[in-house]
Amino acid sequence: AKKQQYDYIQLFNNQIKQALSTRNKLEEGLKTAIKRDQLTVYFQPQVNSATNEVFAIECLLRWQHPELGSISPDTFIPIAEESGLICEIGDWVMEQALTHVRQWLLSNIFDGTVAVNVSLAQFLNPNYLIGLRNLLSKTLVAANKVEIEVTESLFSNQDADHLAILKELNLIGFPIAIDDFGTGYSSLHRIKMMPVNTIKIDKCFIDNIETDVSDQTIVQAVVNIAKSIGLNVLAEGVETQGQVNKLAEIGCYYCQGYFYAKPQPIDSFPNWLAEFKNK
Ligand code: C2E
Ligand code: CA
Ligand code: CA
Ligand code: CA
Repeated sequence: AKKQQYDYIQLFNNQIKQALSTRNKLEEGLKTAIKRDQLTVYFQPQVNSATNEVFAIECLLRWQHPELGSISPDTFIPIAEESGLICEIGDWVMEQALTHVRQWLLSNIFDGTVAVNVSLAQFLNPNYLIGLRNLLSKTLVAANKVEIEVTESLFSNQDADHLAILKELNLIGFPIAIDDFGTGYSSLHRIKMMPVNTIKIDKCFIDNIETDVSDQTIVQAVVNIAKSIGLNVLAEGVETQGQVNKLAEIGCYYCQGYFYAKPQPIDSFPNWLAEFKNK
């Protein structure tokens, strides 16, 4: 039994070592990923189901690692946040988003909003707002065309600094969206006091919305309250016509998900959009 216990501990140690070495490898790789052209952004449309208009696109980061292949942002964003690399990477994403949305505007391809995910760690960088203002002047994009998506944790926190930055962003003209709504602990009551424009209802409430009565009740309640305080609501992870229909019944017309489109590579987006408009 002793020997077996020892083997387990060895196995456990090896697994930890392996996990740490993968993590270190990812962190090392991330440091040079921008320079080596391994990062790219994709764009996923947000559609008004009542009019079939694509009113916005969300910018989503992708990393092609030379040995490990394509790595999910759910894996590498937390590492980028812990290591502080998210500041440089986040600035790069923002520049990509603004550059492409500007190009598409000038070439009459798309004149809607671009939504960009911003991590809390970026907000805490004292130079964040300066960099953002510079980027707006450099790319000539209007702030009201750039929605900043932040996760709910930013709102459950009582930190006055966060609120100050959100207010500042809002003053510059950026619309603000709360991402993954419903997965954290923020209340709509608190959000009412925040400069927020859009609530993005997390995919987990949408998955079974066609049949699950409690999910329907929750989403209905969020939609009612959001509308009563003047916020837009969008459903995330919409995959079926049935979900679109149920959401419309509930009064939620803004949808994003594979039902309309997966995130598109930069070069594919104009064609996707043209085809979608012709449908
Ligand atoms: P998110 O912001 O909640 O983005 C939505 C995620 O759901 C995306 O995963 C998207 O591809 C996926 N998705 C969209 N529609 C559907 C659907 O119908 N079905 C399913 N199964 N999935 C759908 P992705 O691109 O892997 O990104 C994962 C997360 O990584 C994002 O979640 C966001 O939190 C983070 N992320 C991505 N890009 C950035 C970035 O540039 N900066 C920061 N800070 N975070 C990012
Ligand atoms: Ca998002
Ligand atoms: Ca989300
Ligand atoms: Ca998410």
